[in-house]
Amino acid sequence: MNNQTEPRGVRHIAIAGGGTSGWMTAAMLARTIPRDVCQITVIEPPGPRGIGVGEASIPSLVSLLKRFQADEAEMMRACEGTYKLAIRFLDWIDAGSDHWHPFGVCGAKIDGRDLFPWWMAQRQRGEAVLPYHEYSLHYHACIHGRGPHFAQGASPIAETQSYAFHFNAEALAGWLRQVALTAGVREVHGAVESAVRNESGDVEMVHVTQGQTVTADFFIDCSGFRSILMNETLQDPFQSWNQNLLCDRAVAWKIPGGARIPPFTVSKALQAGWMWQIPLIEHTGLGYVYSSQFITEETAWDQFQQAVPELDLSKATPRFLKMRVGRQSSFWKHNVLAVGLSAGFLEPLESTGIHLSQVGIELFLQLFSLRGEFSASRDYYNSAMAKLYDDVRDFVQMHYWLSQRDDTPFWKAARNAALSSALTQRLQLYDETGMFDVLQREAFPDTSYYHILAGSRRLPKRAPLFAMAATTDMVQHVLDSITVQNHHALAQLAPHESARGIQAWRRSA
Ligand SMILES: Cc1cc2nc3c(=O)[nH]c(=O)nc-3n(C[C@H](O)[C@H](O)[C@H](O)COP(=O)(O)OP(=O)(O)OC[C@H]3O[C@@H](n4cnc5c(N)ncnc54)[C@H](O)[C@@H]3O)c2cc1C
Repeated sequence: MNNQTEPRGVRHIAIAGGGTSGWMTAAMLARTIPRDVCQITVIEPPGPRGIGVGEASIPSLVSLLKRFQADEAEMMRACEGTYKLAIRFLDWIDAGSDHWHPFGVCGAKIDGRDLFPWWMAQRQRGEAVLPYHEYSLHYHACIHGRGPHFAQGASPIAETQSYAFHFNAEALAGWLRQVALTAGVREVHGAVESAVRNESGDVEMVHVTQGQTVTADFFIDCSGFRSILMNETLQDPFQSWNQNLLCDRAVAWKIPGGARIPPFTVSKALQAGWMWQIPLIEHTGLGYVYSSQFITEETAWDQFQQAVPELDLSKATPRFLKMRVGRQSSFWKHNVLAVGLSAGFLEPLESTGIHLSQVGIELFLQLFSLRGEFSASRDYYNSAMAKLYDDVRDFVQMHYWLSQRDDTPFWKAARNAALSSALTQRLQLYDETGMFDVLQREAFPDTSYYHILAGSRRLPKRAPLFAMAATTDMVQHVLDSITVQNHHALAQLAPHESARGIQAWRRSA
């Protein structure tokens, strides 16, 4: 006779925190798990939903909208959303430098490989080639103020879902909340104050303000930098990345936007960090991400004002934000999953926060079982998410490492900050062969690395053999065809301001 009792199973999942991650998690869970089998509750304190600065995504958000069967124009209307096709980096390499990170394939793939090795081979043979980024359709769309869609039919950018958004992040959380509530998610108003654990260490119940309690079989921590369940309750150690990424503060401001809305983010290097410019429909979000090791709040605000001399900010009240840079050692421990800022964060240079939440939930949904048996899944999840976070940290740190600025103590230190052994190895491989090991990469494809490296004037010693084996004429033919195709596609891309979502906002404003 089998005396083992069947596990009770998961019939209630409670999510602590209702920012972008909390509501995104709730909406994705509710779309996957039948409501009559398992209830989902979000515990949300009153007040703003998240940090509320203008934010940006990377292209993965397009697939989330498809999963929700949501109309992207409707989402943009709700969040003052605009399109983002690239990031433009100003003054990062040295004063006056200007390089781009456009999304999507650069021109075309040849034999399933990025254009870069062939471009490099042509360069090595002394042939006249355009800068690498000039083969990107996304780059040309940015320069000409176009959105990702053709006026009629599907554009190559739309077909490959290689575009992203800028939005008001608080409004995005509100929109996700609507998606979740419509799918049957329950809402409890209040903040988690403490948790009760059973003898095996699992969280059984949380005490919420005003004497309420919430009992659940599984908890998801979306409480932001507080990390109330993963860090505070389970005492999971936080691994700081302050030695890799020096920026740990931001000061944000918002100004009225112009009639033209650039379809790209600008990142401009300043004395102790960098400034973002995120174009929404009627506003431009501005923020200075800086390192408190090098300047005070007062100096940061002065430098921020000097960077935008056209604005009179003398009467403005600056908003300072502290950033907890690093990640938890575990992302899933006992019956608690951490998603979003409660799991980890790195500065917003490549706008990866929301992407990391999305991937975290997607992977969880592939591994999770309502039967409540998940030890192997938990181990796999923890190692996969740790790798993803570490990879993204490396990609962001690479931007600093490539800088040649040594005009301030911050830039000297940021350029020389310790690199992980994985990034060191990848850069050595690139220098030697022009190739990156990208088989496992999740957040950014090899094209992104090539844009940042080539844009930063860091070219490998030689092109790989397979690219040198192709004839000059063949490669030149491909490069010329890309230029012609981009020209043709560009003519059909609709102006950014005519996008349905932007028009709908303007009509409803
Ligand atoms: C300066 C800055 C700029 C950023 N820019 C970008 C960007 O461009 N792109 C991007 O993808 N990401 C960006 N991010 C990150 C992005 O803001 C977050 O990844 C995203 O908002 C998800 O956050 P979250 O929901 O995990 O946390 P938060 O947005 O902080 O939300 C946490 C929620 O938990 C609630 N809470 C707190 N304590 C408790 C408690 N005890 N009980 C219950 N609830 C609680 C809070 O009230 C809040 O509603 C940026 C972050 C910063 C700091």
